[in-house]
Amino acid sequence: MRHAYIAKQRDEHGRKAVAVLPVHYPKELFTALDLLAVEMWGPPGAPVSADAGRVQAYVCAVVRNALAFLASGRADACEAVLFPHTCDSIQGLATLVTDFGGWSKPSFVFQHPRGGPRPSSRAYYLSELGSLADGLAGLAGRPLEPEKLREAVRLHRRIDAARAALLDGRRRLALDDVELYRLLRRGEWLWPEDHLAELEAATARLGPSDVQRGAPVLITGYVPEPGTLFEVLCDAGAFVVADDYAAVGRRVVRPPAALDLADPFHALAELYWAAPPCPTRASDQVGRMRYLAELYRRSGAAGVIVHEQKFCEPELFDVAAVKKTFAGLGAKLLYLEGELETELSGQATTRLEAFVEMIAATARVA
Ligand code: SF4
Repeated sequence: MRHAYIAKQRDEHGRKAVAVLPVHYPKELFTALDLLAVEMWGPPGAPVSADAGRVQAYVCAVVRNALAFLASGRADACEAVLFPHTCDSIQGLATLVTDFGGWSKPSFVFQHPRGGPRPSSRAYYLSELGSLADGLAGLAGRPLEPEKLREAVRLHRRIDAARAALLDGRRRLALDDVELYRLLRRGEWLWPEDHLAELEAATARLGPSDVQRGAPVLITGYVPEPGTLFEVLCDAGAFVVADDYAAVGRRVVRPPAALDLADPFHALAELYWAAPPCPTRASDQVGRMRYLAELYRRSGAAGVIVHEQKFCEPELFDVAAVKKTFAGLGAKLLYLEGELETELSGQATTRLEAFVEMIAATARVA
């Protein structure tokens, strides 16, 4: 499906596709330059080539699968690849793919500043934006026009607003979790205007009162794979009332009311620090725990699921603090770990069902 979509975007709009590794990157630059960003969260399942063996067995499945995928030529519909500096494993992948992984097209890296919005970190972020913009403009074969970038920033704010409306109004939304996550994750590869049209159609299904009747859970973790997790949750009688996945909720920015677009690069810097805290951007852990506690209280969740990828260093670094934070709130918590399987294991399914049964018995009234 993605291949057909990429080909259509190229043939009908002249848009080149760029494969993008997780998690955070300034997508507005791509949109402003008419480049289609196609994110690679693995993909899930077994690695598609033996090249996954070029990295140690204790490296996460996202990186192993991405290396195998890129080396096998299956991403050749893309004209370049972007490696955000999410973790040491992706940084290592950026070298491996070009040195040994058979990738000979352009590759870009994007480093995140560490810490809060100090003058030095702002200057660093602006310089990273500038150098990525130059690289992407070379690929697109045209200069980046400030007005196009302003338009792209506005478009992505509308996307964020629609995503926030769906997530924040989850109880009133007449979609099940399988449908909701399928919709939200299509934003990983659709052209932004196409994604916005689908989101806005879905916001029309937000009713005036609650329609979700199951036990509400807060879910935090890296990426919602396998998608069958939501089928199990739904069948067990629960729904996700609050999302803190790195791939989903942590990328929904609720910007300052008045975003100054006079200099669109500065606006992107504002948005970077307005995003929810995420350990893959080295956010301050204390601030993140405050954010999660508030999300739990506000959402009226009856329990918490922590859903991580095995060997994911940035995420696992926070897990002890996450458990401690929710224990302090008296929240029931289930910890699940996966490796980009395509199906939830029988054991994980049983644990999830038992957890839902337990929280349903004590579900709080929001
Ligand atoms: S799963 Fe974790 S370790 Fe693997 S690429 Fe993502 S952030 Fe890095």
